[in-house]
Amino acid sequence: GYPSLLKREFVDVSKKTQNTSDRGQVGIDQKSTSPFKVRIFQWNLLAQALCLGADNFIKCPKEALEWKPRRLHILEELLLYEPDVICLEEVDQYEFIQSALESIGYKGTFYPKPDSPCLYCDESYGPDGCAIFHNTKKLKSISIHNVNLKKENASTNQVAIIQKLQYCNHDDASSSGQEFYVGVTHLKAREGWGEFRNLQGIYLLKKIKEIAGSSPLIFMGDFNGDPNEPVYSTFKNSDLNFGSAYTKLTEDGTEPPYTTWKIRGGRLATGSIRESCKTLDYMWYTKSSVTVDRVLKFPTGEEMGVNKLPSFNYPSDHLSLVCDFSIG
Ligand code: NDP
Ligand code: CA
Repeated sequence: GYPSLLKREFVDVSKKTQNTSDRGQVGIDQKSTSPFKVRIFQWNLLAQALCLGADNFIKCPKEALEWKPRRLHILEELLLYEPDVICLEEVDQYEFIQSALESIGYKGTFYPKPDSPCLYCDESYGPDGCAIFHNTKKLKSISIHNVNLKKENASTNQVAIIQKLQYCNHDDASSSGQEFYVGVTHLKAREGWGEFRNLQGIYLLKKIKEIAGSSPLIFMGDFNGDPNEPVYSTFKNSDLNFGSAYTKLTEDGTEPPYTTWKIRGGRLATGSIRESCKTLDYMWYTKSSVTVDRVLKFPTGEEMGVNKLPSFNYPSDHLSLVCDFSIG
């Protein structure tokens, strides 16, 4: 049969004491007493049109990338951790995912890239874009804001979605009403575009402030830049006072060593193989109003195997980021 997905476990980070940069106090137990708990899932799931050709994942068997088996692994990964909110990038099979998720109580929204590279692939399913799903048993959509990212005043081919959600507990009105925002983006890819990504990030922060004000917010996505890139500092140092959820996994509060690990065809000028092991995906949260309780650990390089991602055991070259948050 088809192999099972990589096994991963949650780490409880709620008892870690805060450092001085968090809420300005030292040694405060971070455990939140807020009743508003939400599990959020973030993933660049790898566009079907791109994975078949352009991506050139030479170490991944072709059969693992065929849509029919692959789509089952995608659904398995989306549902395994029973998230309340699912934020996705590189979605070029929205209708399939939407019909599957809506049949079990999620509601989705999709915003395609203006000129998606998926449209130019040999096998195309439509443009890729960002999507957000929420569990309607627990959450209600208040508003959806589709954003075309600009670089200074020029439009770009990248997008974001910001959605306002509200808790709605049908059995207990007292634990209803809390509002918060979630957002997702997929910034421009490739080496040498760091300043372009930073300008997209600066524009995004402006839109986030316009739309969400000082409300609780979790903003995530594939930023296509590692923690040394300007766009990372732009988000980290913004006056929205963001924390990055996955830094809770490390002792020193740095980002984990990778969120994507892949091997492409061809060789670099140095003669070495094109292996890319990088941290590009983040979940930013407003530290004044959101707390991280649990974080889903990444598999080790050994667990992924010598051929890394994607594979028969995992359908994307990016790992999903999944966290439990307390809001308010
Ligand atoms: P991006 O540079 O942002 O990249 C688009 C996609 O390519 C991303 O999903 C990215 O994945 C993936 N990617 C990144 N690096 C590689 C790589 N080394 N090999 C294969 N895939 C990679 O593209 P834009 O959205 O800015 O699109 C560029 C423009 O190119 C568009 O405007 C489109 O019109 C045009 N285009 C035209 C084509 C044509 O035939 N005429 C073909 C393709 C694009 P990740 O983010 O995970 O790295
Ligand atoms: Ca990609």
